[in-house]
Amino acid sequence: MIICIDVTCEAGHTTEVFVDSKTTTMECPVEGCEVTAKRIISPVRTSLDPISGDYPGATMKWMANREKQMAVERKAVERHGPTAAWDVARGGR
Ligand SMILES: [Zn+2]
Repeated sequence: MIICIDVTCEAGHTTEVFVDSKTTTMECPVEGCEVTAKRIISPVRTSLDPISGDYPGATMKWMANREKQMAVERKAVERHGPTAAWDVARGGR
């Protein structure tokens, strides 16, 4: 399966590439840069990374959203049973 992933190389290039889903390392796609680039396992596509803790505002916002989402999932489980959380996670009810 071909998927779109982010890879980062030792020279600091982060590039979006289309590769086979099994690919974890490759030659850096940046022209002239021939070092090994590794797949970023959890690509973060927002401009501020809420997980790193470098941006307290983004982290707090992310946590607030996460809390809300977990509350919705918990409620769905109470009402409809354990599989309901999957429906909520997929955006359905
Ligand atoms: Zn590079």
